[in-house]
Parts: sequence; C-alpha cells; structure tokens
Amino acid sequence: QDTLGFIKDSIKSIPDYPKAGIIFRDVTSLVENGPAFSATIDLLAERFKDAGFTKVAGTEARGFIFGAPLAKALGLGFILVRKPNKLPRKTIEQSYKLEYGTDILQIHVDAVDAGDKVLIVDDLLATGGTVAATVSLIRQLGGIVEEAAFVISLPDLGGEAVLKNLNVNITKLVD
Ligand code: 5GP
Repeated sequence: QDTLGFIKDSIKSIPDYPKAGIIFRDVTSLVENGPAFSATIDLLAERFKDAGFTKVAGTEARGFIFGAPLAKALGLGFILVRKPNKLPRKTIEQSYKLEYGTDILQIHVDAVDAGDKVLIVDDLLATGGTVAATVSLIRQLGGIVEEAAFVISLPDLGGEAVLKNLNVNITKLVD
C-alpha cells in the first residue's frame, strides 16, 4: 500500500458527529498512529522544503498539531492563529462566518514581518471560512500567502473555490 493510502486509512470517519447527518473526519486516529503521523509530516516537509517559506502558520486547534512539527522539519518559526483572548501580546482579529453565527480568530501583530512568505497549515478544509480568515490576518500584517496545506480537503464544501479566489494554492493529502 502506498503512503497516501496508509495515511488515508488511518483517519476514522465518525457518522452523526457532532450532529446528525455530518460525517466527521477524525484526525485524532491519525495522530495516535505513530507511523501515520510521522509519514504525514514527512510528506509535507518533503513537498515544501525548498519552497522558500519564511514562516508556517496554523489555526487553533488542530492546525497546531500538524503545523508545529512541519515548521520544525522545515527549520522555520511557527505562528499560532487563535480563538479570542488566548494570545498575550497585541493582536489583530478577523471574524468569519460559521454555519450558525460568526467566530473570531486573532494573531499577534508582531508574529509576521512584512514580506514574510507564510505557509498556512490546517487539518481539514471544508467551507474555507477558517483558512480565509487566517489568510486575511497574515496579509493584513504584510505577509505573503500563496499556499495552504491540508491533510484532508472536502472539495464539495466550497473551500477550494474560496482559496482559488484568494489566489492561494492548495496542497492536500487526502480527499
Ligand atoms: P471550514 O472553516 O473550512 O468550514 O472548516 C474547517 C475547520 O473546521 C478546520 O479548522 C477543521 O479543524 C474543522 N473541521 C470541520 N469539519 C471537520 C471534520 O470533519 N473533521 C475535522 N477533523 N475537522 C473539521
């Protein structure tokens, strides 16, 4: 079996979570599997090792799980994009739409230097709202965002089109 198939098979699908009709893609089963987790980070690191990024950014909470080890593998700093009132220094924030209501993400204003080439990482791309807010925060601080990487993309939910409109290229391991 190839590496991508091995990674895909390590991700459990949970029907009716968090509510009826949703099939939740559970990446905790991937992370709990040492060889699958390692292979995931190695594949992403191989893909991006000579791409010229200066920072990696991940969005709370599962973006941290994949983003931080990828940043370490690339020898780059890691930027935490967080829910409100978690970051201690001066922040800017961006609200974004959820299925019901809105949510907010924040970033430290000094986490990005103008001209930084930032790779965004998250576990899963669905509607694209989370990553679009993350792109906006980094660009507001003068960072350059041209690439976002996901372990899983669910292309039917529209996130890939959202990122295309933002001129952000997508890398995905599984869909
Ligand atoms: P979006 O903003 O693209 O609609 O949703 C993506 C965000 O919601 C990601 O940060 C991701 O962690 C979370 N998410 C949505 N659906 C799932 C799912 O089925 N599995 C996992 N692991 N995360 C999900």
